[in-house]
Formats: sequence, C-alpha cells, structure tokens
Amino acid sequence: MERVTYLDHAATTPMYRESIEAMLPYFDVEYANPSGSHRAARRARRALDEARDQIADLIGVTPGEVVFTGCGTESDNTLITGVVERVGGRPVCSAAEHHAVLHPVEHSGGVVVGVDPTGAIDLERLESTLADMGSTATVVSVMAVNNEVGTITDLVAVSEMVRRLAPQAVLHTDAVQAPMWLDLREISQVVDSMSLSAHKFGGPKGVGILTLGPTVECAPLILGGGQERDRRSGTHNVAGIVGAATALGLTDRDRSVGVERVAGLRNRLVDILIGEIDGVRETVPRHRKIAGGAHLVIDGVESEALLFLLDERGVCASAASACASGAMDPSHVLAAMGIDTASASGAVRLSLGHTTTDADIDRAIEAIVDSVGRLRRGRSCG
Ligand code: PLP
Repeated sequence: MERVTYLDHAATTPMYRESIEAMLPYFDVEYANPSGSHRAARRARRALDEARDQIADLIGVTPGEVVFTGCGTESDNTLITGVVERVGGRPVCSAAEHHAVLHPVEHSGGVVVGVDPTGAIDLERLESTLADMGSTATVVSVMAVNNEVGTITDLVAVSEMVRRLAPQAVLHTDAVQAPMWLDLREISQVVDSMSLSAHKFGGPKGVGILTLGPTVECAPLILGGGQERDRRSGTHNVAGIVGAATALGLTDRDRSVGVERVAGLRNRLVDILIGEIDGVRETVPRHRKIAGGAHLVIDGVESEALLFLLDERGVCASAASACASGAMDPSHVLAAMGIDTASASGAVRLSLGHTTTDADIDRAIEAIVDSVGRLRRGRSCG
C-alpha cells in the first residue's frame, strides 16, 4: 500500500484494530436483529446493552440517557429540532459551530452568537442574548472543541451563565471533536445533552451518540419502529455500536498519555514550520486548543494549491472542515473569528491523532516547506 502521511484526524480517525475485530462477529455469526425475541436476537440485544452500559460509564451518564443515532450530524439535528418541536421557543448557538448545529439552529429561526478571536463563544454576547431572550431560549448549543481551529470552549463558564439566565433551556454540546483530548465525564457534568460520533474516536463511521439528560424533552427526528425508547427509530447498527464502545474504551484508557505525546509532535511541527517559513502564524494560541490541532495561515499561498501539492507527496491535510462537495468554501469559522479573507485563503489544518508518528512529522515538514517554496517561487515568476 502507498505510504500516506495522514494529518486529517479531525475529518476522521483511523480505526483501532481492536474496534474492527470487536465488530466482525456481528457481521458474521451474530447478525440477528436485537429487537427480536428469539435466542439469536437476545444475544444481539445483550451485546447492544453491554455496549450501552460501557459507553454511558465512559461519558458519565446513565445507560438510559444514551441514544444511538446514525452520525454526529443526526445527533445534533435531533436535539435542536426535537427540543424546539417539543417545547417551542428558539435555539441559540455560537457562530463557530459545525453546520450540523448551525443549519438546524438557523432553520428553526434561532440566534447565532458571535465568537472571540480564538473561536470560542463570546461570553459577553451570550450573556446579553440570553438576557434579551428571557424564557424564549429553549436550547443553547455550544461546541466542546472546534473542528476547524481546535479551540476548547470553557463549558463550565457557559453552563454557569445558561443556568443563571436561561434555567429553562437545554444546554447541549457538540462534543464530536472532544473524546481524543478531553474527559467526557467532566463535560457531561455541566451539560444536559451531548453529541458524539464514533468515527472521530477510532470507531466506525455511521454511529452517532446523543445523550439526553433526565429533564430533556426532545421529539424524535426519525419515526418508525420505536427503537431507543421511541427516541430514534431504525434497526440498530449492532456491529457499529459494539465497535464504538470498544473504541471509546481505548480512547479513554490512552487519553492522558496520548495527549502528551501528540502535543509534543504538534509543537515540533508548528515550531519548525514557523522557523523555516516566513509569514506563517497560528490562528489560536496552543493553550486554548486541543493537543492534536495545528491550524496555520500562510501568507502568499492559496491553501487549495498547497493541499494539492501536499497530496501529490502523500500528505493528507485540509483547509476548512471536510464537506460533501470537497469544494473549498470560505470558512465561516475564520470569518467569525475576524480573520480577513486574504489570510483565510491561506489556511491549513494539520490534525494529528493516535496514529501520528515522528516520521509523519518529518515528512510533513519537508513537504510543506518545499511546497510553500514552490508556490511562492511560482507567484514571483508569474
Ligand atoms: N460536529 C462536529 C464538530 C464535527 O467535526 C463533525 C464532523 O466533522 C460533525 C459534527 C458531524 O459528524 P458526522 O460526520 O458523524 O455526521
């Protein structure tokens, strides 16, 4: 197989081998539908229940609060549209949310609150928004970790503000980018609801998790057979859910060592790039973001051209978040942070993770330094 230097863990993570192996029996011998009543179905149900118990424990909620969905996007959509459908009012979110939150909030006539220059929700603006909205704010959704620039939100401060000014509101966090870097038990203590996606923590694609605290009233998005206690219909993806539980267990077990190791690799990568290339800067200070995030703007370089050259050399990176078209839309996150369009057009996201090695960092540095040099020489000739 061709060797790739994979620095796009924020788009998706390579699966843990153990997660793949845990899934295999459920494609093969244990293929029964867990909603049935015969012995094979009961075995599948047992696997589902065990996975739910394990996941609940790792998040710090009760098993009854865990709802399995088809992806992180579905979890976000369900919570926002489901709360508005059930209790009315309007949702609130930050301007740097993933479109999986931003679009349903806008669709429901919600309010989008600006962010500070690091991409974290601006607490003063949140405070005045909630004060103005009074009891009409029924759901507030603020991401735990930004998928583009890697900023960590101070959810304790957000929670304190929401409880004080909008005690009726459900506080939700899109924590899809969090599990590799942050202890989910600490997050679950301060929110009512959380979205996760297994493919961002070494598990399979097609498995989302939504936690719904005991007081959350939320209508289902998908109606049908009444699975997940009527909160999300559709036959369970047993293999995927078992794989997700295994992956979350490994993520939790290895997190503290992994964070330190990856931070060292990220710091070396960024320090050398800043030292070797003129006109490179980090968009967010390192102490405000996750260990695996390197987000840079490079003067005089179009990120699309740079990513093309990097891809030719086997280095997988990205500019903004991955989107269905693969097209490079201007980043709403960078715009909300106040980064001008010219600088934003030279943005690159190098996202490291559990498989990143020293050799990856060496290859990435060489490829980026060479490619930026080529692009700048090309510009000065043309
Ligand atoms: N929320 C965030 C912060 C994300 O990064 C992503 C995926 O990139 C999603 C939601 C959507 O998750 P999924 O790909 O499982 O639909």
